[in-house]
Amino acid sequence: MKKNPKNGSKEPRIIPRAAHNVTRAEFSKSALKVLYRLNKAGYQAFLVGGCVRDAMLELHPKDFDVATDATPEEVKALFGNCRLIGRRFRLAHVRFGREIIEVATFRAAAIHEHDDHHSDDEGRILRDNVYGSIDEDVWRRDFTCNALYYNIADFSIWDYTDGFEDVKKKRIVLIGDPEKRMREDPVRMLRAVRFAAKLEFEIDEPVIRAIDHHSHLLTNVPAARLFDEFLKLFQAGNAERTFDLLRDHGLFREMFPATAEELDADADFMRFTRAALQNTDRRVKQGKSVTPMFLLGVFLWLPVKKLAEIRRSEEKMSESQALALAAYEIVAQQQRRISIPKRFTVPMREMLSLQPRFEFKRGKRAMKLLDHRRFRAAYDFMLLLSEVGQGSEETAKFWTDVQTQSAAERATSFQLGQPTGQKNRRPRRRRRKKSTQSP
Ligand code: ATP
Ligand code: MG
Repeated sequence: MKKNPKNGSKEPRIIPRAAHNVTRAEFSKSALKVLYRLNKAGYQAFLVGGCVRDAMLELHPKDFDVATDATPEEVKALFGNCRLIGRRFRLAHVRFGREIIEVATFRAAAIHEHDDHHSDDEGRILRDNVYGSIDEDVWRRDFTCNALYYNIADFSIWDYTDGFEDVKKKRIVLIGDPEKRMREDPVRMLRAVRFAAKLEFEIDEPVIRAIDHHSHLLTNVPAARLFDEFLKLFQAGNAERTFDLLRDHGLFREMFPATAEELDADADFMRFTRAALQNTDRRVKQGKSVTPMFLLGVFLWLPVKKLAEIRRSEEKMSESQALALAAYEIVAQQQRRISIPKRFTVPMREMLSLQPRFEFKRGKRAMKLLDHRRFRAAYDFMLLLSEVGQGSEETAKFWTDVQTQSAAERATSFQLGQPTGQKNRRPRRRRRKKSTQSP
C-alpha cells in the first residue's frame, strides 16, 4: 500500500463534531437516509468530496457522494430504489424522486509506482478499478479539499491529507506529487482552476508549476470529456473568473486555440467575450437558463467572421452563407479539442449566420426574421455586440422595439425600415447574387 505522501502515515486525523462546523442541515434528507441505512446494516458510510468541502464553507452543496465499504451488490440489496451503473467501475445510484445519491465503494488507485500497465506513455491513468478501504480510497482523490470524509456514525470528519486546514486556508493543494498527478489525469488542471474560481481559493504554488509544465497534455484528453468540463467551467456562475484563471495558466489556449489567438490580438473581441461571460454569470445567478451554444458562438465568433471574409473573397456568396460555411469549418477544427454535440453546433451556426440579417429592416423578409426559430439567440448575440460598440445601436433598438409592438405598429415599422442601418456596412460594394438576405 502507498504511504501518505503528505505526512507519511495512513492514520487519519479525526475531527470530532464539536471541532467542526459541518451540520447535517447542509445535507439532503435522501443522502442522510442512505448513510443511516448503510451504517445500521454494519457498513462504514461517509459523505465525501465536494459536499463536505462545500458544507464547511457554508456553500449549500447540491450533490452528495457517499463512500462505503459495502460492495455495489451489497448496496443494492439494502435499497429497493437502487440501480447499478458503470461497467468498468460499478457505482450504485439510489433514487429518491428526482434526486440521485451516488454510492461508491472505496477504491484503491490502480496505478502503482512500478506498474505502467495502467497508464499511457505520458502517465495518464487508463484504469482505476480495484476495490479498497478508506485509507486507499483517499489517495486517488485529486485535491486535499476534496478528500474529507464525513462519518455518519459520529458526525466526525476524517482527514488523511490536511484537507481540513487547506479548506480553512482556502488553498487548492494536490494530494501526492503534483507533476505525477497532473500527468495521470490532465483534467485535474481544469479542476484546479474550476475550484479556485468557484471557492475563491488560491492554487498552491507546486500545482501552478505542474500546470505550467503539463498544460499541453490537455490535448490527450478525450474531446467528449473536455466538453463535460467546459460545461462545468462555464455554466456554474463563475465563468469570468474561470476564464481569467484559464488564461493565466495557459489552459484556455489548449481548449480554444483559435479563440485564444484572436483574444490576444483584438481588444474589441476581448471586450465582447468578457461581456458574454458576465452575462452568462448574471443569468446563472438569477436562475435563468443558459445554453452552451451561446458562449461557444461568442468564443468562435471572430475566427468565424475572419474566415467568412476570406471565403467571400474567394467565391460569390452572401454574408450569411459565408458565415454559415466558415462556422462549419471553424467548428470542425474546434471539435478536435472539444467535441460539441450537434444539438449545439447546429443552432450555433444559425445564430452566427443570422447576424447580417439584422441590418435589413424593411419588407416582409425582414419581418420574417422575428419568426425564425433562432431569432431569440441571434437577437441576444446582436444586442451584446452592440452593447460593446460593435454593431449599430439603432439596429439594436429597432429589433428591440419591434418585439413589443402591436401587429399594426410592427407592419409600419417594417414598411419604413431603417435604411440608415446600411451605413455600417463595409464600403466594398456587395456582389449581388440570388441572395438569401436581400431586403
Ligand atoms: P463539484 O460537485 O462542486 O463539482 P466535487 O468535488 O464534488 O465538486 P466531482 O466531480 O463531483 O467534484 O467529484 C467528486 C469527488 O471525486 C471529488 O471531490 C474528488 O474527491 C473525486 N474526483 C473527481 N474527479 C477526480 C479526478 N479527476 N481525479 C481525482 N479525483 C477526482
Ligand atoms: Mg460533486
